Amino acid sequence: MSGKTTPMMEQYHALKQQAEGCLLFYRMGDFFELFFDDAKQAASILDIALTARGKDSGDPVPMCGVPVHAAEGYLARLIKAGCRVAIADQVETPEQAKQRAKREGTPSSKALVKRDIVRFVTAGTLTEEALLEPRRANMLAAVCEVRGSIGIASCDISTGRMVLESCDPGNLHAALARVGASEIITPDDWAGRLEDTISRPKSDFGSDDGERRLKTLHEVKTLDGFGDFDRAMLAAAGGLISYLEHVGRGDLPLLLPPRVRAGESQLSMDEATRASLEILTSQQGGRQGSLIAAIDRCVTGAGARQLADDLSAPLCDMAAISGRLALVHYLHQDPLLRADLRDVLRSLPDIGRALGRVVAGRGSPRDLGQIRDGLAEARRVRDFLSHKPDRPVLLESLLPLMGGHGALVDLMQRALVAAPPTERQNGGFIAEGYDASLDELRQVSGNARRAIAALEARYRDDTGIASLKIKHNGVLGYFIEVPARHADTLMAPDSGFTHRQTMKGAVRFNSLSLHEEAGRISEAGGHALAAEEEHFEMLAAQVVAARQEIAATADALSRIDVSAGQAERAAEGDWCRPQISEDTVLAIVGGRHPVVEAALAQAGDRFVANDCTLVPEDRLWLIGGPNMGGKSTFLRQNALIVLLAQAGGYVPAESAQIGLVDRLFSRVGASDNLARGRSTFMVEMVETAAILSQATDRSFVILDEVGRGTSTYDGLALAWAVVEAVHENNRCRCLFATHYHELSRLADRCDALSLHHVRAREWKGDLVLLHELANGPADRSYGLAVARLAGISKQVVARAKSVLDKLERGRAKTGGLAAGLGDLPLFAAVQADDDEPGDPVREKLSELDIDALSPREALEILYEIKRAAEST
Ligand code: ADP
Repeated sequence: MSGKTTPMMEQYHALKQQAEGCLLFYRMGDFFELFFDDAKQAASILDIALTARGKDSGDPVPMCGVPVHAAEGYLARLIKAGCRVAIADQVETPEQAKQRAKREGTPSSKALVKRDIVRFVTAGTLTEEALLEPRRANMLAAVCEVRGSIGIASCDISTGRMVLESCDPGNLHAALARVGASEIITPDDWAGRLEDTISRPKSDFGSDDGERRLKTLHEVKTLDGFGDFDRAMLAAAGGLISYLEHVGRGDLPLLLPPRVRAGESQLSMDEATRASLEILTSQQGGRQGSLIAAIDRCVTGAGARQLADDLSAPLCDMAAISGRLALVHYLHQDPLLRADLRDVLRSLPDIGRALGRVVAGRGSPRDLGQIRDGLAEARRVRDFLSHKPDRPVLLESLLPLMGGHGALVDLMQRALVAAPPTERQNGGFIAEGYDASLDELRQVSGNARRAIAALEARYRDDTGIASLKIKHNGVLGYFIEVPARHADTLMAPDSGFTHRQTMKGAVRFNSLSLHEEAGRISEAGGHALAAEEEHFEMLAAQVVAARQEIAATADALSRIDVSAGQAERAAEGDWCRPQISEDTVLAIVGGRHPVVEAALAQAGDRFVANDCTLVPEDRLWLIGGPNMGGKSTFLRQNALIVLLAQAGGYVPAESAQIGLVDRLFSRVGASDNLARGRSTFMVEMVETAAILSQATDRSFVILDEVGRGTSTYDGLALAWAVVEAVHENNRCRCLFATHYHELSRLADRCDALSLHHVRAREWKGDLVLLHELANGPADRSYGLAVARLAGISKQVVARAKSVLDKLERGRAKTGGLAAGLGDLPLFAAVQADDDEPGDPVREKLSELDIDALSPREALEILYEIKRAAEST
């Protein structure tokens, strides 16, 4: 092949056009080949050789290829690198192509095998076990806007879970941060609104169409039974389903009935909060160092995925949280039950994902085997638990979901072998005794195999060649092989053997009897394969028909795994069951930070537990003290405790009373976010603005050194104003860490604000950080001592000390940085100024378009203005 137009090239280009910007895997024999720029890109990502084809005939074409049997690994790497791939496979055999060419009158030598894009492989539409991380959901999301409301449809097609939600445009980023999709689809008129999305025709995002598709998919007349969906949700669902149809070339993967994500029953957190709390990934980007890594004790992948979901969307609903907590408590107080349960769960296959593959038409016999074993185990877990007394309500509601598959399990137990293979085309997965005619076919080929073994023995005797062997390969089928030196005996015209192939050192022959037996094997083998295939289809169809019940079983098991894992973690770390209340108290005794504590424990250090008591009369704590003193850690541990509690788990503390939090905010001053192209300080302010406009009196806010990213004066001024605004307007619970001593003056003006600090001591010239929270303002900042600790040389620190002395003498004279702040009018008074209404007469006049007025209108307006002037 070369750049010149050959029929193959034409076919390639036509397919490439359909591939819409994806890399095209073009099937040629046992390889998927890539050409042109695709080849260059793939070769560099995969680190494989880039070659060229058609060097002698015109422009050489850059190409590279991957073997079909190893394609999955290469696909995984391409997807990870952000590529999308279209798979163009051969959809007819070379034989069929020749016959077609004959019919069409083209010379058969020119017959080109038909190829088609059979599938798109994209980050959000994977189902293959090898391409998925077992402990992470793989989300795909479609987003659109209908009349000012954003609709988001998200699903994990590896398990078929689908969730619809709608939100204000202002909350789009927060919602998407929660979903954490690996691929996002938007209508094509959204260009530039979100980064890195896949654009699809706007017409795919119709709400009527979405509704119709959902109804057809789930065979219902109305969607009411699934939930209350608005137009934006349905439109997004339409976009999602069309996209899935597109990438599956008409085949849809497993999609369970959609659920509505109810915003108000969940603790809301925006993108910045999620990132700064390092819930599922640490700031470095990996799971290591994240909250989930420190607490995940699930023994199944599905459990770990459920835990991630719980932590991404903690609840705001007393009853639901208490329900989960009661189950954790039940498993916490009975360590033996917990250990037994976890032992059983540990061997449980990932039913949810196996189901996903079967429904998507990519299931293997092994997947069916996993579903069979998983469902059988589920029933055992149910029976085991239903003998236990005093079961909590949540468990009681899960138990019935774990049974009811008796007939299906029984069928699959009879039909499938104990450990079915991952390959379907070679058969061997239907158990003996399930299908008499299949057994017979197998017997025929078994007999023939034995006959061949007998033939080998007879031929050895007859010819006297002890090294004679009957072998099999893909090209010749069965043949007789003897070393070259014995070949003459068999070559004799009346020997009964016919020559087939001469190799180096060996010669191969056929015989009539061998030919007959081989024929029997291949015929019976072909029939047996076809029979197994038919059974597979039937079993898969039964699984597909029961998909909702199977998915419900998988969900019930993962909830139990999550609860048992949380109980295990709590027992391990001596955690407590939080008391949830409807008030606005946050009273944590002996709180700890699970990630920092684990890191310290590894180094053999002890974590110092600290209390936090926020009540309506004392709801804003200003926390000072030296750098490295533990301020950030304290702030975050309290936010994490709220999050863990509202996700329905135990918390790292001696006791915790938590008045339900509606929104959780976490901000760190001047965090690096240059990737988004905004200056760090700008980001800090944008994020702080969001808190001031969104936090309610039920929210919990932690602000870490806000104001740090600008000059001292600006920073102090902003920090001051932010604290005042949070105190006066938002009236939320808030922890504010700062190194501005000057802010301590706010304690005189804000009655629900109190001062605290992390303790430190200087001992023999060295700084000792106690990581202990104490009441009252920090006495000094210990900045120079921290600098020493960090390895700044003695000379530099000494010089800094003399500069500091000078500054402090100046401060004493002028009253310092915050001199005069005491005279500022109160925050509320400043606000009143701001809100003063403008002059209505002026406003009216400036709005007028005089040229557009009729004389009569002008006169009327004149009267109106006079009235307005008189009334002000
Ligand atoms: P700051 O915000 O005051 O600069 P950090 O919270 O970042 O300080 O804490 C600095 C380091 O101190 C942490 O990385 C941790 O190793 C240690 N640390 C913090 N809090 C504690 C604690 N309560 N007990 C023990 N060590 C702590």
